[in-house]
Amino acid sequence: MINSQITKHTRPDLVIAYKKIVLIGIQGSGKSTQGNLLSKKIGSPYLSTGHMVRDVAKDKSRFGRYIKETINAGLLIADDIMIKLVTDYLKKKEYKNGYILDGFPRTVDQAKEFEGCVDKVIYLKIPDKEALWRLSYRDSEGIRDDETLGGVRKRIELFHKFTEPVLDYYRQKGLLVELNGQKSVKVIQKEILSLLSP
Ligand code: AMP
Repeated sequence: MINSQITKHTRPDLVIAYKKIVLIGIQGSGKSTQGNLLSKKIGSPYLSTGHMVRDVAKDKSRFGRYIKETINAGLLIADDIMIKLVTDYLKKKEYKNGYILDGFPRTVDQAKEFEGCVDKVIYLKIPDKEALWRLSYRDSEGIRDDETLGGVRKRIELFHKFTEPVLDYYRQKGLLVELNGQKSVKVIQKEILSLLSP
């Protein structure tokens, strides 16, 4: 069984208007920090597809190897595979009442296939050079294989090419909120909670 990173709520203390939340941003924009904080606050599970696929990559099967090689090459996993992985995963009962997704949808095709499963999209916007700067100050102990400077540059390029159109897609649907990801963690958290309030 895939053991992805799920933050379970212990004491949700807020009522929110939107249950199916998507966080979008380049690497280092603070999605996982905000996703985990939000999860504790509102009681929805946080699911990072990056964590999810890294667990799949541990599998010694051919499929596991394909996923591992794709991640390490800094490429995106094929849409049909990704859509199946995520939709199967979200069938688990803990996601019945909502979720905070980080890393999916990442392409317009993924977003189209995921139609009806998103109530609000939060884009944490930071400049590319801020993402690279944040990465170079990260503790090297925690750096992943695909987190070299070159690897991150490549993923930033992929973000502009494939994920920026996803922002337009949700903008047109009126689901997108854009936040300045350069503000402090606390301030961003407050802004997120206020935009999710009824
Ligand atoms: P992340 O931790 O979100 O940066 O994801 C790490 C890697 O997992 C990415 O570079 C992709 O190879 C893969 N991945 C995660 N989410 C997706 C997605 N929605 N579509 C395609 N590939 C993904």
